[in-house]
Amino acid sequence: MNERYSRQILFDPIGREGQERLLASRVLVVGCGALGTAHAEALARAGVGRLRLVDRDFIEPSNLQRQTMFTERDARERLPKAVACARHLKEINSEVEVEAEVSDVNRTNVERLLQDCDLVLDGTDNFSTRYLVNDACVKHKVNWIYGAAVSSYGVTMTVRPHTTPCLRCVFEEAPEAGSAPTCDTSGVIMPIISMVSAVQVTEALKLLTGHAESLHNSLMQLDVWRNEWRRIRLAEPNEDCPVCAKGIYQSLDAEGNDFAAVLCGRDAIQISPPKATAIDFERLAERLKASGEVSFNPYTLRFRVGDYELTVFRDARSIIRGTDDVNHARSLYARYVGV
Ligand SMILES: [Zn+2]
Repeated sequence: MNERYSRQILFDPIGREGQERLLASRVLVVGCGALGTAHAEALARAGVGRLRLVDRDFIEPSNLQRQTMFTERDARERLPKAVACARHLKEINSEVEVEAEVSDVNRTNVERLLQDCDLVLDGTDNFSTRYLVNDACVKHKVNWIYGAAVSSYGVTMTVRPHTTPCLRCVFEEAPEAGSAPTCDTSGVIMPIISMVSAVQVTEALKLLTGHAESLHNSLMQLDVWRNEWRRIRLAEPNEDCPVCAKGIYQSLDAEGNDFAAVLCGRDAIQISPPKATAIDFERLAERLKASGEVSFNPYTLRFRVGDYELTVFRDARSIIRGTDDVNHARSLYARYVGV
């Protein structure tokens, strides 16, 4: 074992054996925003041998205040977050195997993404993806660690399927659309990201090194501005839970309707094609250049027309900025990208 992990090996609960276990582990990080990049960086530094990253978005200047892995250059180049994150991780720890996937996590790919993973870390920003991750993790008996942060408030919980309550046991329904604060409507300060991700990463280290007895076993709520820290003890899994008691995986089985998603508070809509398609950027740029301003890099094509900006990914998924009207976004997509 090299010098690199010596201080972590000296930490008694991990030791040499724990380090070996970390090196042999694979973790899926869902979402490479503020929380996800914090997870990825900490796990790469700790020597978790294989990291799989998935994120649907690209880097913007407003991310830099809290998404500490990214630089101005990443934002200028509008790199997809998963790609930029993988690149930085390679510089941080070249021994770690990193797989990066630029895509929207949905019911068609979530089970493939968590294949061969020992653990899943939640770095997403929305409840529908979390329910999906929860369904897939309970179905395949993979531990996952829920985390969320907005404003100065954060919450986290570790889910061990059939041993502890799952997300659906604790939150039967997602908050109504538009009713819950988001980072884009209420803002967020960086320290709460550090705190939530620190608890999540520590739980990950405990699980990966076989120290389930040290897990916090609670719904942990923190407010770093109000100086509040609360733990609600978790009981047994809920006997009426559709997911972990009845095996009804509603999010995994739901048909259709995930074609378009409003990206909270960003004045933007994401449109996903019903079937994955590979887009030829050169041809699309050629076609679009008469109607507006086009530029592209190997990962994304950007097209400005009037008050709208379309960012098209290789798999034809697009983020349309300048509207929060799903139908309007669909018509722009159909007009310029086509399906
Ligand atoms: Zn449950």
